Amino acid sequence: MDYSKSMNLKQVSEKEKDFLIPTYQRLPVMMVRGEGCSLFDDEGKEYLDFLGGLGVNALGHAHPEILSILRDSSQTILHVSNLIYHAYQAPLAECLARLSGLDRAFFTASGTEAVEGALKLARSYARKQHGGGSFERFEVLALENSFHGRTAGALSATWPEKYRAPFEPLVPGMRFVSPTDVEGLEKQFSPRVCAFLIEVIQGEGGIVPLSREFLGKAQELCRRTGALLICDEIQSGLGRTGQPFAYQKFGLEPDIVLVAKSLAGGLPLGAILARENVAQVFQPGSHGSTFGGGPLQCRLAVKFLEILGRPRFLEHVREMSDYFRSRLDELQEEIPAVREVRGEGLMLALVLEFPGKGIVQALLEAGFLINCTQEKVLRFLPPLIIEREHVDRLVPPLRKALDSAAKTAGQSGGPALRHL
Ligand code: PLP
Repeated sequence: MDYSKSMNLKQVSEKEKDFLIPTYQRLPVMMVRGEGCSLFDDEGKEYLDFLGGLGVNALGHAHPEILSILRDSSQTILHVSNLIYHAYQAPLAECLARLSGLDRAFFTASGTEAVEGALKLARSYARKQHGGGSFERFEVLALENSFHGRTAGALSATWPEKYRAPFEPLVPGMRFVSPTDVEGLEKQFSPRVCAFLIEVIQGEGGIVPLSREFLGKAQELCRRTGALLICDEIQSGLGRTGQPFAYQKFGLEPDIVLVAKSLAGGLPLGAILARENVAQVFQPGSHGSTFGGGPLQCRLAVKFLEILGRPRFLEHVREMSDYFRSRLDELQEEIPAVREVRGEGLMLALVLEFPGKGIVQALLEAGFLINCTQEKVLRFLPPLIIEREHVDRLVPPLRKALDSAAKTAGQSGGPALRHL
């Protein structure tokens, strides 16, 4: 039974209300098909996708080379356990090593699972350094405003209180530090600290890039104290910023890098990449994942990285970024309630002076998918294959929605007219 044909949005949403654990507030739309940068709902209406499956659909929808692998693999092999060899993990690990400058990979089924594994690896590395005796070096520094996932360890390193508080006590030994306090960072590196977990651009936190100064200091302190620098590139990595990894722009040399999201062209796959001396801490039995690194996902990921490595691919991301940014800058100049444009590559945001939920809704009605994070930050994570014409189609309805929301906020005495 193909439910996407036999059930409409209303029927699906009612059934979800009855049977799902209600963790998501969905937009009132049901997608049944995708092609390139467009999605189509159950009534055939087209939506330009500036959300990209929250950063997963870097190649857009129904990419022909991804489909070709899916067709072929569906006839040959979908899954084997990690107790058996298949041909695709090793070439994928090699590609990731070349791209990142790190040495080895462990494959997971999601981003949060990569974060969990990295926390174990960091603690295990510190324990080994201390000869496995009394274990003093277990603290992990994370950043205020961070997001690393929803499982216990990753959640313990995730900043918003509202995500953590209902589940406490969480994993002990996590400590948050300010991402803007360069001066104060040194005193946070006590001898107990085994790792510093950062997002070079904080994604869920509102597309907030860390400063070059802060990143440089973080690396220096990690080197000096022997703490591992872990870059969570789950949202910012794999071409999203116009570089293979966001940390490369700042000349960082992390000990561990985490990726997921777009890695397998739309299927679930993540990876922990680590330096040789760190990676060697894990031995058979130290860690595992039933679904991590399956043959289908790894084969797709090799293809994704091959596409990413083509001569014009990242150049295109940078060109589209410049263009998209210039159009967002125009909006900022025109509309005083747009406070800031920020981000890198195709990980961009408009910071508003009023809540962005209504804009997301208005754009949905106009046939565009965008996202709002941190209440007042409109976030754009489009497929990396977008063209100028997609941006040109987005800007007029976005301008209209911003204008009218700014007026409403202004009339209701909100801060939208502060600059007027
Ligand atoms: N880390 C970062 C920076 C993320 O943006 C996310 C998800 O948005 C995660 C970790 C968690 O990844 P996943 O949702 O695949 O578990």
